Amino acid sequence: MEITVTRTNSPKVKPDESSLVFGHEFTDHMFVMDYKEGQGWYDPRIVPYGPLTLDPSTMVFHYGQETFEGLKAYKAEDGTIQLFRPKDNIRRMNQSNDRLCIPAIDEDLFLEAIKAVVKIDEDWIPTSPGTSLYIRPFVIATDPFIGVKPSSTYMLMIILSPVGSYYKEGLNPTKIYVEDEYVRAVPGGTGYAKTGANYAASLKAQVEAHKKGYSQVLWLDGIERKYIEEVGTSNAFFKVDGKVHTAPLQGSILGGITRDTSIELLKSWGIEVIEEPFTIDDVMRWHQEGKLEEAFATGTAAVISPIGILGWKGNDIQINNQEIGKISQKLYDTITEIQNGKEKDTFDWIVRV
Ligand SMILES: *Cc1c(COP(=O)(O)O)cnc(C)c1O
Repeated sequence: MEITVTRTNSPKVKPDESSLVFGHEFTDHMFVMDYKEGQGWYDPRIVPYGPLTLDPSTMVFHYGQETFEGLKAYKAEDGTIQLFRPKDNIRRMNQSNDRLCIPAIDEDLFLEAIKAVVKIDEDWIPTSPGTSLYIRPFVIATDPFIGVKPSSTYMLMIILSPVGSYYKEGLNPTKIYVEDEYVRAVPGGTGYAKTGANYAASLKAQVEAHKKGYSQVLWLDGIERKYIEEVGTSNAFFKVDGKVHTAPLQGSILGGITRDTSIELLKSWGIEVIEEPFTIDDVMRWHQEGKLEEAFATGTAAVISPIGILGWKGNDIQINNQEIGKISQKLYDTITEIQNGKEKDTFDWIVRV
C-alpha cells in the first residue's frame, strides 16, 4: 500500500529547544489510516496535523476501546535519524490490539508509516542533550454507535511531539508512594496492554499521592496487595546485595521495552537480574538489613528514573541517600548514548530512518 502525502501550507513556528517540556507541542504532520470490517486497513496517509471531527456517539468516547504506544526518534551528530527498537513497539501494539479486540496492523506497513511521518517532520527532531522526538501511535474505535461491542471501524494515527527531559529536575531521585488502597491491574485483566482505561483507572491514586507530596505511586499486585508490580507508567527495579530484582511479566504489568533494554545491558555487564515475584515486605527487610543499594524505574519517556524515597504505611525510607545510584546512572548514560548514536549499537536496537 502506498502512503499518500498532503503537506501543510502553514508550517508552525518550532518551539525553543531549551524550553521543551513533555508532550505539549506537536509537529506539522500526522499519519492516519482507516479500518473497515471486510476491507481491512486502508488509505494510509500523511496529512497536516489538526483536530478531528467525530460523531459524539463514536464508540471510543464511551467504552474506551483504544490502544497506544510510545517511542522516540533521535538525530545523531552526523544527521542520521535513529529509532529505538520500533519493531518491539509495533509488536506490543498488536498484542494490546488483540486484548482490546482491535484488528492487527501489518508490521512492515506500520514501520514504514513511522519512518515516513518522522522523515517529513525531521526538522522537528531536537538535538540538545536530553531531547528527542516522541512518537505516539494510537488506535481508536470509530463506529458511531453506543452499544457495547467491538467497533467495526477504526483509525490508526501517529502524532509526533518534540520533548525535553521527562522530569523538569532531570535525572533526580523521585519520591514514590507505595499504593495500598487502589490497584492498577489484576491477572486476566488488561494490565499488559497499553490501553487508555488502565491510565484513567490510575489517576485517583496519582492525585492522592501528589497531595501527600510524592511524585508517583508504586503499584502492588491486585490480589494479595504485597507483590511489587510497577511505578506509575514505568517498570521498577531494586538492586539488592549486587543483584537486581524486577517483577516478572505475568500479565498484570506492562512489558516495557526500556525494562528489557535494562535487563539486557545489566546481564552484559555481568550483573545478575532476578525476574521473580518479590514483596514490599522484602524491600523493607532489605532496607533494614542495609542491602537495598539502589532502586529505579524504567520507561521510554524518562528512560531511567532513580527512586530516592519510598513511602509505605506512613514511613518514608531513603534509598542510596537520595542520590543517583551507579547502575541507574550507567544505564541512563548507555541507553541515551545508544539512542543518540554516540555509543555503538551492539544489540541491534537502532533502526535508521
Ligand atoms: C509504557 C509503560 C511502561 C514502560 O514501557 P516502555 O516500553 O519502557 O516505555 C511501563 N509501564 C506502563 C504501565 C506503561 O504504560
